[in-house]
Amino acid sequence: MILMADLAHEPEALRVAMHQAVQRVLASGWYVLGAEGRAFEQQWAAACGTAHGVGVANGMDAIEIALRALGIGAGDEVITTPMTAFATVLAILRAGATPVLADIDPASALMSAESVRRCLSPRTRAILLVHLYGQLRGMSAWQALCREAGLALIEDCAQAHGAALRGQHAGSFGRAGAYSFYPTKNLGTAGDGGMLVTDDEAVADRAKRLRNYGQSERYHHPDIGLNSRLDEVHAALLLARLPWLAEFTERRRAVAAAYRAHLQHPAVRLLAPPEEAAAHANHLFVVLCDAREALQAHLQERGVQSLIHYPVPVHEQPPCRALRRDSLGLPHSERHAARCLSLPCHPQLSDTQLDQVIEAVNSFAAC
Ligand SMILES: *Cc1c(COP(=O)(O)O)cnc(C)c1O
Repeated sequence: MILMADLAHEPEALRVAMHQAVQRVLASGWYVLGAEGRAFEQQWAAACGTAHGVGVANGMDAIEIALRALGIGAGDEVITTPMTAFATVLAILRAGATPVLADIDPASALMSAESVRRCLSPRTRAILLVHLYGQLRGMSAWQALCREAGLALIEDCAQAHGAALRGQHAGSFGRAGAYSFYPTKNLGTAGDGGMLVTDDEAVADRAKRLRNYGQSERYHHPDIGLNSRLDEVHAALLLARLPWLAEFTERRRAVAAAYRAHLQHPAVRLLAPPEEAAAHANHLFVVLCDAREALQAHLQERGVQSLIHYPVPVHEQPPCRALRRDSLGLPHSERHAARCLSLPCHPQLSDTQLDQVIEAVNSFAAC
């Protein structure tokens, strides 16, 4: 079976480095908030071009903590997309704020600025932009919209490690960026991890307090915080994996380029190509097909795994059915959710497997 992710078949040199990283932490006897975490915070912030990185327990917490560190909570509205991982919206709810859902641009599946404008209200405080599938697009327009409307721009970068638009990295465009290091993300650990990146020292300081029980100094708790720290073992594993990210991202780009060049089927459509190759981290390669279930079954028969990101838009999830949304509805999100299919696109995919996936898609007999 050609899998959507194949972490068990990563290069031997990387496996060795990961074992050494874990052994280093075990030998140190220091497991939470230490030198490994500080080193990874510094290296990942540098990779993103931001002044600060604050390691947290997962990507969802990184978003919640970013919102709370910016003083966004009860009574405040945060506009985001219903075509995302549920965690994006859950983080807004967990911060005590109110999500408002804008529709997507069908060409990219990213949030539409026109729709966002229809969602604005006097209570809007922030726009939470999701770099869905790894795509970074139209960032100067988002910055301008936030500047004009006096809103905080926050980036959900959980799928966009290594994506850069005209040399500027995901996470550095707004007040804060939130990364996840869940195992299958482009940079992942052997468990859960996350990081908030920001240029704002005050936001970083508040985030450091919030992740650690709201503690300012030992046993003093001015804030109602969380327990959300990036453990030393995960920080060490991420330090070992970071040097591989560029090569892995290049492979994802080569896979995506081959799909773009060779997928040829009248019933299978592609999303718009990236503004520039570097602006897409190719976390997922998504195609659109009216006969999606039949295509998925055909691929399965041909030994190709596929997944759907995401079959149920956020506004159709029970806790979110009453959320305010674009006054024109969310028809593009609903259409996308009914048609999107993600094909295998990961660094371990061989040329032979890549050809097999292309051949499997192109041989689909659409009814
Ligand atoms: C994975 C993901 C998250 C959540 O990250 P976790 O580390 O699993 O909490 C949030 N947003 C998006 C877009 C994601 O893909």
